[in-house]
Amino acid sequence: MSGPDDPDAPTHRPARPLFAVYPALAHKLPFVPLADLPSPIHHARSLGAELRVPNLFIKRDDLSGAPYGGNKVRKLEFLLGEAVRRGAREVLTFGYAGSNHALATAIYARQLGLRSISMLLPQPNSHALQHNVLMGFHVGAELHHHPSKAKLIAGVFIQMLKHGLSQRRFPVLIPAGGSSPLGIVGIINAVFELAQQIERGELPKPDRVYTAVGSMGTAAGLLLGTALTGLRCKVVPVRVIDKRTANPSKLEALCRKTLSFLRATDPSVPHIGLAKDAFALREEFFGEQYALYTPECVKAVRLLAEHEQIRIDGTYAGKALAAVAADARTGSIEDKTVLLWNTYNSVPFWESMPTIDYRGLPPSFHRYFEEPVQPLDW
Ligand SMILES: *Cc1c(COP(=O)(O)O)cnc(C)c1O
Repeated sequence: MSGPDDPDAPTHRPARPLFAVYPALAHKLPFVPLADLPSPIHHARSLGAELRVPNLFIKRDDLSGAPYGGNKVRKLEFLLGEAVRRGAREVLTFGYAGSNHALATAIYARQLGLRSISMLLPQPNSHALQHNVLMGFHVGAELHHHPSKAKLIAGVFIQMLKHGLSQRRFPVLIPAGGSSPLGIVGIINAVFELAQQIERGELPKPDRVYTAVGSMGTAAGLLLGTALTGLRCKVVPVRVIDKRTANPSKLEALCRKTLSFLRATDPSVPHIGLAKDAFALREEFFGEQYALYTPECVKAVRLLAEHEQIRIDGTYAGKALAAVAADARTGSIEDKTVLLWNTYNSVPFWESMPTIDYRGLPPSFHRYFEEPVQPLDW
């Protein structure tokens, strides 16, 4: 029986493990529950045998949300919480054409009764991109495609004005990739969730945690989270975007800014310094361009599908797994407990999507449906 006096009643449990440790954060931070947590831990025995890393585990954030998983929903619980708190009717965000972040924002904003506007930039074509664009359109996102960053910024001003005038309220801006200090709190919480899973014996304490790095919020959250929980595993961030967007000094700055934000919100959050060797940003799996699949990444994506029946992408998670595979080949992680943070949604939403004629999209998106895609099956 669960009643008001039952301490185990769901309503008495803090919504997220981070809130149990820092109740002031629960009181002060905007938050809406959107995710399906904890996301499972999977012991990748078959892939681990293949790579000779027997203690290879996967944090299945691909299952972090029922309509749409991946790492972005963790950030959106806070970012959309803020939009709701501010009484927003619309949110506006940014990304590349196939942005998982823009799609996640569109899907979860709609759940909350908000409209979303996606300001998007060109990227190499893929089936995953096509699915994301069509799904964004299907859930009612207003999609804009801009040929360059300068044009996108101009477009943001125009749309802010246009929507501000017609709605008598400006859309609330959500940063690219959701990687503001507030969004990153969702990733820090994920490490507290991982600590509970370790405590429950679902996996040993990892020596290394591999993650793909785009807007850097996930890596920053994992770095801060492993320090705050005392897990102190080595975080291995794998850069999948250009050097100007993601680099060690920017990542450190983002960690510092996020920690200041947390401590300003709850002074009981300790001041933690990041050890000099807390991370080494891996550069060698990027390839030539953002969202351009490298041969080793395509191989890694196929290997995971074959051995564990988990679908990942060639833009992010495939490059992170390529780093695991490369390190496995050199024998440097053979005796280590390795955790791959799977940041890519695996809910096959496109299977239940009605057939949508891409010609209903703004014309600048049509080329993605008329030009060839890179080789991967989904
Ligand atoms: C956004 C994204 C990432 C990168 O996370 P950041 O916090 O932007 O660095 C990794 N994997 C997938 C699948 C993503 O969509």
